[in-house]
Amino acid sequence: MTVSKKLDSHGRITVPKALRLKYGWKSGMSVDVEMKADGTPAVRPHSPTCRFCGAYQNIHRFKDIYICTDCADELKGSIL
Ligand SMILES: [Zn+2]
Repeated sequence: MTVSKKLDSHGRITVPKALRLKYGWKSGMSVDVEMKADGTPAVRPHSPTCRFCGAYQNIHRFKDIYICTDCADELKGSIL
């Protein structure tokens, strides 16, 4: 599904209602916006990201820090 939208004067767009309903996006929910290398934006519901590399998969929480498995392994290796 492709929908053309115009940015408003503050750079905002509205996510089409059909998509909000389809994916259960509610008013006030947090989203993450990522610009891909080719300049294509990706928007998804907010999820914790690794403090060190920005990954959003295989994330663990240690105290108040989110860290991915790869960075945790690297950190463990650098300490021991
Ligand atoms: Zn990481």
